[in-house]
Amino acid sequence: MSGNAVRLQAIKDVEAYVPPAVSYDSTEAPGEIYGQNVFNNAVMQRRLPKNVYKSVSDTIENGTKLDATVADAVAAAMRDWALEKGATHYAHVFYPLTGFTAEKHDSFFEPVGDGTTLAEFAGKTLIQGEPDASSFPNGGLRATFEARGYTGWDVTSPAYILESPNGNTLCIPTVFLSMTGEALDLKTPLLRAQQAMSEQAERVLRLFGNDPDHVVSYCGPEQEYFLIDRHFFLARPDLLNAGRSLFGHKPPKGQEFDDHYFGAIPERVLGMMMDAERELFKLGIPAKTRHNEVAPGQFEIAPVFERANIASDHQQLLMTTLTSVAKRHGMACLFHEKPFAGINGSGKHVNFSMGNGRQGNLLNPGDTPHDNAQFLVFCAAVIRAVHKYGGLLRVSVASASNDHRLGANEAPPAIISIFLGDQLADVFQQIADGGAKSSKRKGTLRVGVDTMPDLPADPGDRNRTSPFAFTGNRFEFRAPGAMQSVAGPMTTINTILAEALDFIANDLEASLAKGVEFNDAVQAVLAKIMNEHGAVVFNGNGYSDEWQVEAAKRGLLNLRTTIDALPQLITPESIALFEKYGVFSSREMHSRYEVALEQYINSIAVEAKITLEIGTTMVLPAAIRYQTELAGNVVALKAAGIDADISALKSISKTVDELSAAIATLGAALNADAGHDLMDEARHAQSVLLPAMAQTRSAADTLEGVVADDLWPLPTYQEMLHIL
Ligand code: ADP
Ligand code: MG
Repeated sequence: MSGNAVRLQAIKDVEAYVPPAVSYDSTEAPGEIYGQNVFNNAVMQRRLPKNVYKSVSDTIENGTKLDATVADAVAAAMRDWALEKGATHYAHVFYPLTGFTAEKHDSFFEPVGDGTTLAEFAGKTLIQGEPDASSFPNGGLRATFEARGYTGWDVTSPAYILESPNGNTLCIPTVFLSMTGEALDLKTPLLRAQQAMSEQAERVLRLFGNDPDHVVSYCGPEQEYFLIDRHFFLARPDLLNAGRSLFGHKPPKGQEFDDHYFGAIPERVLGMMMDAERELFKLGIPAKTRHNEVAPGQFEIAPVFERANIASDHQQLLMTTLTSVAKRHGMACLFHEKPFAGINGSGKHVNFSMGNGRQGNLLNPGDTPHDNAQFLVFCAAVIRAVHKYGGLLRVSVASASNDHRLGANEAPPAIISIFLGDQLADVFQQIADGGAKSSKRKGTLRVGVDTMPDLPADPGDRNRTSPFAFTGNRFEFRAPGAMQSVAGPMTTINTILAEALDFIANDLEASLAKGVEFNDAVQAVLAKIMNEHGAVVFNGNGYSDEWQVEAAKRGLLNLRTTIDALPQLITPESIALFEKYGVFSSREMHSRYEVALEQYINSIAVEAKITLEIGTTMVLPAAIRYQTELAGNVVALKAAGIDADISALKSISKTVDELSAAIATLGAALNADAGHDLMDEARHAQSVLLPAMAQTRSAADTLEGVVADDLWPLPTYQEMLHIL
């Protein structure tokens, strides 16, 4: 069998691929299936006793504490509904610090002693679960002998039915806590942070003379991903185990023509997207836009924004759904931030705003001077938050995989700045200058008296190089990676906004107490924020070298790698901030720091081991076979009395030696003592393992360009990216 048999078979299979039979009723309107598997408000209203419904919806809408006495009634209604939907099991779903989704399934049915079973689901089972969760990362919060973790029902995120070919499961979104009440998950801090932000936002709204509803934070995540044929995926141990290709010669055709971006979606991909959207609709996930992305084989899906906590749960479900539906269509869905070197990686843009029913979106510029003043205050809060806590935003997107993407001229740089657009930046500049300087707009602007210029709502010309861009009625945080949960960034955004809104409310209250007129007080606090924090506003090209220099002059942090960023989690200022707003205790912060370091170390170690394995067992043998073939040829030519050209043999022998040496170095690096401190190990991964991997890859990629194609075992970039 020749060395490329797997590749050839994969290509044949791709060619012979037939899409799965249509498994849905094409007459069914999307509106009919939307939310059909969700225990949503409408279902609750129909099925719950009135007082129970009122109590639960009060918790959901207004953030009041859950009345535990209603749990039995809710559990009974939920169980009946789930059984009608064909569920046999229920699961508490939680989001441990791995960034993945975890679930523990239990059967509804319990034996009753007479040989039969009864469907049981008590209120206490709904409210609390106790998964044996000792192997989830906890960063020292639990010793294994007391490894208990508890899951607790999150009333604000609706339960749903997860369908699978062999049965359905009732899924209940939960928080995950240690026995001592410390957060072991991504949901708990998000809920805490939202709460903190709401409180401060409502204070500010009251100062503006409103009677505010409960303020919530909204999030609309845009998900980028790659699709490749599953046969290629299975033939690449690196993609299979690490999610990214650790080898691969650059293809002759990459993304240089920009012909994929917003191009026609390939039929097979469209079929998969439509199936996935149908599944998402059933789960009440409002998938909306879909299009091709910049790189070949890269796509994007964006649901309509929802409350941050729900958006975050839905985001996890969306990734699971895309993965399983892609598989059904013979493809692998890749969420890694950089699956292929040399072409764009994938991000997850986190759009966010905050608001409520009565006052609407607080980041929407208004029509009246009063509304505008309020809008400017909320915008200024974002400016203060991002400037003061840029390091925390940076660390909220830090991971070994996102390091490949940030600052590589395809995603924002590691410097966190804000893009406001010319007009809004001009308005804030006028405020900072106290209205003294002339500006683009005739005259000067008085907060609360004049209306602002119309801001362009069209996001078309927006700055794509900024990590944090105002886009008409929301901010878009563009640094998060495709694979990560949005819960982390949203927790940070809500917490730092709580601090900024708290500052603003205090400042306004102090001015008012001194008898300052309200509009003047607003003008003053806006000017103060712009003078102290205006340095974070940058409307230029974030990818340019000049910005690196300019940002340093402005004193903005430039934390290039995860290792540079992680210590931000445990600075005294960060700990004080998160403690003050009740989001994390100091112990929780330290645990998160440790877990992040462990994740970093582990993911690089896995990649290094796979590199070693592929280099040793696939690439080197292929190269040696070819080298032997060339050598045999030289011998044969000499025997025939023909002058043999040995330059090709010499050249490949040199690269084979380089590969062997690199493999030896990598093996030694993996076995070396990296120190016992987690930070030492992380540094070893960064400064020893990554370069040794790069060296191995470089020699292997050179070989891929010269070794006879029929000997090459790994599907090539060309094949993976262009055969779909
Ligand atoms: P673009 O590619 O132009 O950024 P998309 O349509 O791909 O736009 O995605 C925009 C995302 O922003 C969607 O998820 C959308 O629901 C979300 N979004 C829109 N308005 C808001 C808002 N006020 N708050 C939070 N997210 C929003
Ligand atoms: Mg988009």
